[in-house]
Amino acid sequence: MQFIADMHTHTIASSHAYSTVTENAAEAERKGIKIMAMTDHCVKMPDSPHEWHFYNQKTLPRKIGDVFLVRGVEANFIDHNGNLDIPADMYPALDWIIACYHHPACMPGTMTQHTESYIKAIENLRVNCLGHTDSPDFAYDIREVCVACREYGKAMELNVARIRDPDNPLHSEAYKFYRHLLSVCAEEGTNIVVDSDSHFWNTIGAFDRAAELIEEVKFPQELVLSLDERRMKDFITRHRQRNIFE
Ligand SMILES: [Zn+2]
Ligand SMILES: [Zn+2]
Repeated sequence: MQFIADMHTHTIASSHAYSTVTENAAEAERKGIKIMAMTDHCVKMPDSPHEWHFYNQKTLPRKIGDVFLVRGVEANFIDHNGNLDIPADMYPALDWIIACYHHPACMPGTMTQHTESYIKAIENLRVNCLGHTDSPDFAYDIREVCVACREYGKAMELNVARIRDPDNPLHSEAYKFYRHLLSVCAEEGTNIVVDSDSHFWNTIGAFDRAAELIEEVKFPQELVLSLDERRMKDFITRHRQRNIFE
């Protein structure tokens, strides 16, 4: 299974990550990844870069070696109303937006609140994907959210950092969660994106556990955007409302 994209990666701009864009891109190229998004934490996380980091990604080249660089962000929910910590004037600087619940930025609410908040984020034209939705503290109605995702042409994330280590009980629990998420996505026809959420270069594009899970549940490969360069580019272009690949 050859993955062509890794759309959730961190760099030293988030202080609890330890590699540079250049190191990440070199590893991406080694793994056959063609499209890589830099998605450092947006402003509400304690370790996030200064907001200028996001406005200024335009200074990066579009390609390092054979890897196309997508200027992204891992945005934080700041309430249960679908609001994210992206200032309005930052949107034009971003090609790719993952929306995530993180403890320091938002305290858990009820299942209904998380579900409604996820759906509101999906309705936000510029949000591409919901990230690592496996946290039990932020449980939600999986089917309702997957249906909304399909209707708005968005994607759910299979976050490999959460399932990488089979000997870690938390990862085994998350693996079970993703097995269920993928079964609902398959039934509802919802796209998924496979991401490393890498905090060091060595895990960029290291997707063996995801391949294992996709095979185990016989997940339809046509719903995995990360396996098809053309479809991934079209997906990015549609929500970016501009073709960044030309
Ligand atoms: Zn995160
Ligand atoms: Zn992350």
